[in-house]
Amino acid sequence: MAEQTTTGAGGAGAGGYDPQKVEAKWQKRWAEARDFEAEADPSKPKYYVLEMLPYPSGTLHMGHMRNYTIGDVVARVKRMRGCNVLHPMGWDAFGLPAENAAIKNKTHPRTWTNNNIAEFQRVLRRFGFSYDWRREISTCEPEYYRWNQWFFLRMLERGLAYRKKSRVNWCPKCCTVLANEQVINGGFCWRHEDTRVESREIEQWFLKTTAYADQLLDDLKQLEGGWPERVILMQQNWIGKSQGAKVKFAVAGAAGAGPIEIFTTRIDTIYGATAIILAPAHPLVSKLLEGSPTRAEAEPKLAKMRQTSVRTEDLATMEKEGFFTGRYAINPFNEEKIPIWVGNFVLMEYGTGAIMAVPAHDQRDLEFCRKYKLPVRVVIQPFEGQPLDAETMTAPFDEHTQGKLLNSGSFNGLSPVEAMAKMAAFAEQKGFGKAETIYRLRDWGISRQRYWGTPIPVIYCPKDGMVPVPDKDLPVLLPPNPKLTGEGESPLAGASEFVNTTCQKCGGPARRETDTMDTFVDSSWYFYRYCDPRNDKAPYDSAKVAYWFPIDQYIGGITHAILHLLYSRFWCKVMRDLGMVKHDEPIARLFTQGMVQKGGVAMSKSRGNVVGAEEMAQKYGADTGRLYTLFAAPPEKDLEWSEESIEGSWRFLNRVYRLIERHAAAIGGVKDAKVDAAATSLKEKTLLRKVHQTLRRVTSDFETRWHFNSAIALVMELTNDIYAQEPLEQGVRPMVRKEVLELLTLMLAPMTPHLAEELWEMMGHTEGLWKAGWPSCNQELAREDEVEIPVQVNGRVRGKLKVPVGAAETDVVRQALALPAIALHVNGKHVVKQIYVPNKMLNLVVA
Ligand SMILES: [Zn+2]
Ligand SMILES: [Zn+2]
Repeated sequence: MAEQTTTGAGGAGAGGYDPQKVEAKWQKRWAEARDFEAEADPSKPKYYVLEMLPYPSGTLHMGHMRNYTIGDVVARVKRMRGCNVLHPMGWDAFGLPAENAAIKNKTHPRTWTNNNIAEFQRVLRRFGFSYDWRREISTCEPEYYRWNQWFFLRMLERGLAYRKKSRVNWCPKCCTVLANEQVINGGFCWRHEDTRVESREIEQWFLKTTAYADQLLDDLKQLEGGWPERVILMQQNWIGKSQGAKVKFAVAGAAGAGPIEIFTTRIDTIYGATAIILAPAHPLVSKLLEGSPTRAEAEPKLAKMRQTSVRTEDLATMEKEGFFTGRYAINPFNEEKIPIWVGNFVLMEYGTGAIMAVPAHDQRDLEFCRKYKLPVRVVIQPFEGQPLDAETMTAPFDEHTQGKLLNSGSFNGLSPVEAMAKMAAFAEQKGFGKAETIYRLRDWGISRQRYWGTPIPVIYCPKDGMVPVPDKDLPVLLPPNPKLTGEGESPLAGASEFVNTTCQKCGGPARRETDTMDTFVDSSWYFYRYCDPRNDKAPYDSAKVAYWFPIDQYIGGITHAILHLLYSRFWCKVMRDLGMVKHDEPIARLFTQGMVQKGGVAMSKSRGNVVGAEEMAQKYGADTGRLYTLFAAPPEKDLEWSEESIEGSWRFLNRVYRLIERHAAAIGGVKDAKVDAAATSLKEKTLLRKVHQTLRRVTSDFETRWHFNSAIALVMELTNDIYAQEPLEQGVRPMVRKEVLELLTLMLAPMTPHLAEELWEMMGHTEGLWKAGWPSCNQELAREDEVEIPVQVNGRVRGKLKVPVGAAETDVVRQALALPAIALHVNGKHVVKQIYVPNKMLNLVVA
């Protein structure tokens, strides 16, 4: 350790700062005193701070620790400020990696998971995070997942859970269905970035998130100011509300095919439609191709497109491909025959899976029509500039406020906005269309063909069809010893003791559902369970939740900005409608922390650049590790790991330790004396001013800005200033030393809690530091002394100015120039020179 070379005090073990000993001692004391256990108590202000629950896999590294440290600082500051703080921890314990690890290592997913949990818990305890461990939950335990099943049944009763055959994203490596959100980089698995996701059709369970689309969108307003703007924006885009119209186009000459219903946000441009384009998955495509002259050419192209799944994020940039079906549609507005195409950039999941191509007024359509030499027709002429030329235009005119309609029959001359309303009304009157609002948001497909998740609580009876499992039979337990191969259908299907059951209705033989739930179900409501973790009658007691909710501060990675948060918000609204909670939104404030990097990239096992948390704690102690992650960068920014800087943090804590150790005995003898400002010496005044000024700024850094790094820099500066006044015995009375060093200790307490407790005890306190509370700044002691200085212009005194002792020259000059008496003499001239004698005088030379 570095200490031996940097201190004369003998370093760890020889009476100096020994973090291993100190940290173990205080962790034991806190646990014995149950300092971090909280109960709902309406007489006290509450504060619920939470870090996203971890998936227990791999090794905890300093990147993880940063997240938990931020949460712990907030929890400790709030406790010191008198709040009743709920700060729990638990485990997102179901999921695919456990199952895969179990297959690989021939163990049970539960064994693998519980070993990891034990390991995670040990390391988190080693860092002294102030969790109420009594509230720990693990989502793979039946006492937790039975409530997933219970919620599922409530949703089933209300039509919010339903089953349908649908085309799904299938990862051949995971052997399971992926949510759209889990398909990344234009069609790859989020877990297997080298594996292309396939499209398959199977029976799936869905939760009806779309039933709440408008609320999920509108309630984002409640989160403004509390959530990062970009997260709100990501949620908005994900929900993707579009107002427009649906219009039906008849199909010319193909018996039994059509009509084709398209969705457009710009019905005002419908006279400019020069093609209809269908999604590859559109059910009419095959019918249109039957007997079509282009069928032989088209079918291989169709097959290729259907194998490739496309994400909406990639639509703007992807290469647009298409083919002609050999068929034509009739535009109901002008009876025009236009060709029907299939295009890879049209998604079945959005709108109706069919669009009209209006190349003159839409970028994507223009690209497509130019590529395949389809005609372009201008139907909106801009007010300004040259008339658009359909033959030569290279950019669409997609404004809807800056032009008027032409080539549009009886609608000519209208503004696009007027035309949208009139044309939608016309379509409705004629029965071939109407105005509609659509969403990008899809229902949440929760079926997974895997073992390690919550069994879906329904059975299938040959007579009665699908029958829900009654509440009294919950939980539906996972079979204990499944055959796990990672291939084919759900492992539950192979467990006959699980699958074969009896129908509740007719008493005959029935089969259980063998899919399990997406693990995002587990994390959608877990933070409610913390309020009442051992309840075996209900998911939680609503009164307890009413006290603790909403979460005052949620902390986690930006990677969860869409999925986890959207599902949690959905779940909250469902629970509200079940009468279980009264609030609309579960999370009042959200903070997304930066990553810890090493060598310019995020720490990860696969890159081999991980700094293990436990290793750090053994080498320097948890407090040094905590301090460093807070000091090295503002919490929202990425942090580049530096061994040198962690050494710096270690040396700083040693400096504080030695300083207080030196004065502890003298301070311990002081009995409750209040510092009397009037009787202080200059040396005392300087110290007291500095410590109270520091306290004022640190308090605001904790409270409003979360600038933990600048708070630590201030405390370091304070420590240097105290050292500069050594020996304190000369001219600083013990009561002043006590005030200064206690405040220093209290300011460090949220960040380096073990060391702070130790120092607090060394200074003679027998009660734990938490009982002391957060100190308040003495504004009188913090105030700068002022001096009055003469201000001269060209050597003659023209005014007087009061400035703080030691004020900076630029501040003094600025204030001087603002004095009317000085301005009068400077007016119209330039200051060519300024002479400033600190605390004495200022002379401005003007010409
Ligand atoms: Zn995969
Ligand atoms: Zn039956």
